[in-house]
Amino acid sequence: MSTVCIIGAGLSGLLCGMRLSRAGFDVTILEELTYPGGLLASTHIGGEYIELLPHHLRRTDKHLLSLTKELGADGRIKWYDAFWYGRASRKKVGYPEGGFATIINLLIQNVTDNGGRILYSASVSEITRKEDGTYVTSCVLSDSRKYEIESNYVIFTGSCRTFVNVSHGLPLSMNVRDQLMNLTYKSRICLMLALKKLPSDAYIQQKFPDMTDTPFARIVNHSACFHDRNYGGQLLYLVGKCQISDPVWVESDQKIMDEYFRAYRKLYPLIKRSDIKTWRLTKVRYAVSEQFPETDLSEPIENVYVCSSALVTHSTGDTPENRMDRVAALAGQISSKIIAKEEDLIHGHEENVIITAI
Ligand SMILES: Cc1cc2nc3c(=O)[nH]c(=O)nc-3n(C[C@H](O)[C@H](O)[C@H](O)COP(=O)(O)OP(=O)(O)OC[C@H]3O[C@@H](n4cnc5c(N)ncnc54)[C@H](O)[C@@H]3O)c2cc1C
Repeated sequence: MSTVCIIGAGLSGLLCGMRLSRAGFDVTILEELTYPGGLLASTHIGGEYIELLPHHLRRTDKHLLSLTKELGADGRIKWYDAFWYGRASRKKVGYPEGGFATIINLLIQNVTDNGGRILYSASVSEITRKEDGTYVTSCVLSDSRKYEIESNYVIFTGSCRTFVNVSHGLPLSMNVRDQLMNLTYKSRICLMLALKKLPSDAYIQQKFPDMTDTPFARIVNHSACFHDRNYGGQLLYLVGKCQISDPVWVESDQKIMDEYFRAYRKLYPLIKRSDIKTWRLTKVRYAVSEQFPETDLSEPIENVYVCSSALVTHSTGDTPENRMDRVAALAGQISSKIIAKEEDLIHGHEENVIITAI
């Protein structure tokens, strides 16, 4: 049985893990964080799972919608009216009952039911190639121990820049290395607030024209749209764009929360500090890629795949968008390619056996 080492337990790593373990591959997923989900990770508030960053589906997300069907979770996707940028829209937004944690948990269950394993707190530091063409992925565990996995295939799902940093031991061409390194990313800071009440039922609003100094770019009134479940309050996200060179990046969570909330109160003075029940701040270094390459870089060297949102086309509007659907499509393509390669190897081997026998 061929082995696959997948780096990252976000949506694309888990999707590849499910498809490949189901096809009979021996799958190991290494995740540097202590929890799964990547950008789609959730936390617990009031006994409910809720995403650290605001996520929703669109009717056009055909790969994701067919994934939910494959997982038997299509009945859980509910469609809601939404107000985009303060206006009612005909476009409905989709959200799974129980949150996106439902999808992540079903993927994990499929991986482990098919014999795959997921190691958390396993930060990959290097990928090297042995003389026989197999790969060795080295990671550092939380107790600083080094751990190595040998595999026939490697799939890397983090940022392209991180891939370049961990792949010095691979014979990648300078051209490919440069192209991957030149893909730049924007970061995001997201404040999630559980409030006693929400002042507006708008789904997403842009900066108000007279508030150009607002530190965040989007307000998402999550529970106004997707119902409040048992969060013990109403959920609101304030999402800010930034570069890691901006001073705000190194500010403490408390200071950023104070600054964001002050700016939010300028928009909605009726909301008071005592209305905050709880809050979480999330900083994402590689949140949205700013461009995508003109050539296909998803297999920079034989049997090593990069499944990163920076490699898939995104909206070319003012605000580049990184959508789950596109990266799910790439994860599906990579898995199918590996399965097809393996079938070719097996058939080639069988033909050789028959010819030898004749
Ligand atoms: C603010 C925000 C809002 C969004 N909203 C939406 C939305 O509404 N709808 C939508 O379709 N999409 C949305 N997206 C995009 C969506 O989150 C992503 O497309 C999707 O989650 C990407 O999944 P992934 O598995 O490819 O990558 P990731 O989620 O980034 O997963 C990569 C994983 O690899 C791990 N990793 C990285 N390096 C290493 C290493 N060296 N060793 C071990 N592990 C490593 C990371 O910890 C991470 O868990 C949003 C994104 C952001 C930032």
